Amino acid sequence: MNLFKHVLGDDWGVHPEDHKRPAADRPVRTMPVPARLFLPLQQHLGAPARPVVLVGQKVKKGELIAEAQGMISAPLHAPTSGSIAAVTEITAPHPSGLSLQAIILEADGLDEWGELHGCADPFALDPAEIGKRVAAAGVVGLGGAAFPSAVKLNGASRSKVTTLIMNGGECEPYLSCDDRQMRDHAAAIVDGIRIMLHATGAAVALVGIEDNKPEAIAAMRAAAAGVDKVEIRPVPARYPMGSEKQLVQVLTGKEVPADGRTFDIGVIVHNVGTALAVRAAIREGKPLISRLLTVNGNCASEPGNIEVRIGTLAEEVLAFAGGLKGDGLGLARRVLGGPMMGMQIPHWRVPVVKGSSGILALDADEVVARDPNPCIRCGSCVKACPMGLLPLEMSARIRSEAYDEAVAYGLKDCIACGCCAYVCPSQIPLVQYFVHAKGELAAQDRSKLRNDATKKLALQRQERLEREARERAEAAAKRKAEREAAAAAKAAAEAATKAASASAAEGQGVV
Ligand code: SF4
Ligand code: SF4
Repeated sequence: MNLFKHVLGDDWGVHPEDHKRPAADRPVRTMPVPARLFLPLQQHLGAPARPVVLVGQKVKKGELIAEAQGMISAPLHAPTSGSIAAVTEITAPHPSGLSLQAIILEADGLDEWGELHGCADPFALDPAEIGKRVAAAGVVGLGGAAFPSAVKLNGASRSKVTTLIMNGGECEPYLSCDDRQMRDHAAAIVDGIRIMLHATGAAVALVGIEDNKPEAIAAMRAAAAGVDKVEIRPVPARYPMGSEKQLVQVLTGKEVPADGRTFDIGVIVHNVGTALAVRAAIREGKPLISRLLTVNGNCASEPGNIEVRIGTLAEEVLAFAGGLKGDGLGLARRVLGGPMMGMQIPHWRVPVVKGSSGILALDADEVVARDPNPCIRCGSCVKACPMGLLPLEMSARIRSEAYDEAVAYGLKDCIACGCCAYVCPSQIPLVQYFVHAKGELAAQDRSKLRNDATKKLALQRQERLEREARERAEAAAKRKAEREAAAAAKAAAEAATKAASASAAEGQGVV
């Protein structure tokens, strides 16, 4: 549990250079469908999807190819028409470079939709039906977390949420896809927000947009003018303003409890891009098969925002976007997502997934590789931490492997935003410590669960063996008693027969 009550002062977070323009100001380009799409079964939080297609099977665009499994999961749909080339392992869009099960789809070039079932009047639908359709469309949070949106919508209506927060913060440097969506599709986003209000039963939607996006604020204000229950709220540009807990606190003044969820204070948070996907799922019956992402970084020849099909390889997106400057000689880091919370990837042959908000090709000037010095106890990390934690104390505990003490200092509340490491003059890789420690704790939890499960199974086996032995002994005793009863009955019958014969002989004068 966090020992420290978190109160946002004026100086939380950091102000990194945002690097959003010129990419944000360029018109969106739509990438043609590539020849092959690589679709990992796990591209959302929760259980991976389960394939429902066979190799060689022909599919239409939007057809279900893998179904959700379990409570928290999301299905996958064909991003174009074609045939299933393989269900196999590919490199995961993850720093580990490990492999992940995926469906490979070969495009037929026709890009033909299957049957779609939209709804002209979403407000006539039961809220639960909206949740069902959003789940069936495979919509997940498009801000990066990729949490299945329907789980949140359904949970909100059950938890009697009163406020829907729409996250248009996009505080990560370099990214501008949300900004572009708000500038280009403000009316559709507001429509999606109204559908989400209907689905959740929330009384009001507050759309938080950082004040470094004046064009988006203007477009959203125009679209929401006269629309009941939808309020556009500019917020100061500051990293990590787009983090759920920060945005909720800035917009509502309410604090999400440590170890708690936004539901606990009657709030639900969705990304503005998710509102567009929800609208498409409900009004047009279209599943989530493409997304807008930002290509950026000093090594990208033509930074900008590009609409791509899910499953397109990052290298093909980069090639479409103009390729790398100087054939990529100056490339220092490849990132999927933003530079603060995104994932460093080992090579470009990884696919765009539903949560991919950016592809960054960064040079050495943008990646400051520094050797750490000892902590000078300047306190900058404490000031910067948006969660009110003590990063220097947590990292000291983690270095000595005292993970429980780090947890007592609030490790579980750390959102891995990287603000502390960003401001540390000693260049201590604080966030890496926290990510490592969380991994260790998760491994310990898994091992404890496994041990507990093994103990439980051994106990159940022992109980079963004892019960079976008891049942065997009882059955043997019963059989013995039955045998003895039968023998006694037989003896009695024989004695009776004998007595009857003797008495008959006596009656006939036989002696
Ligand atoms: S990474 Fe964790 S400790 Fe560091 S600033 Fe962010 S929330 Fe605080
Ligand atoms: S910012 Fe770095 S040097 Fe300063 S107290 Fe925190 S860990 Fe130590």
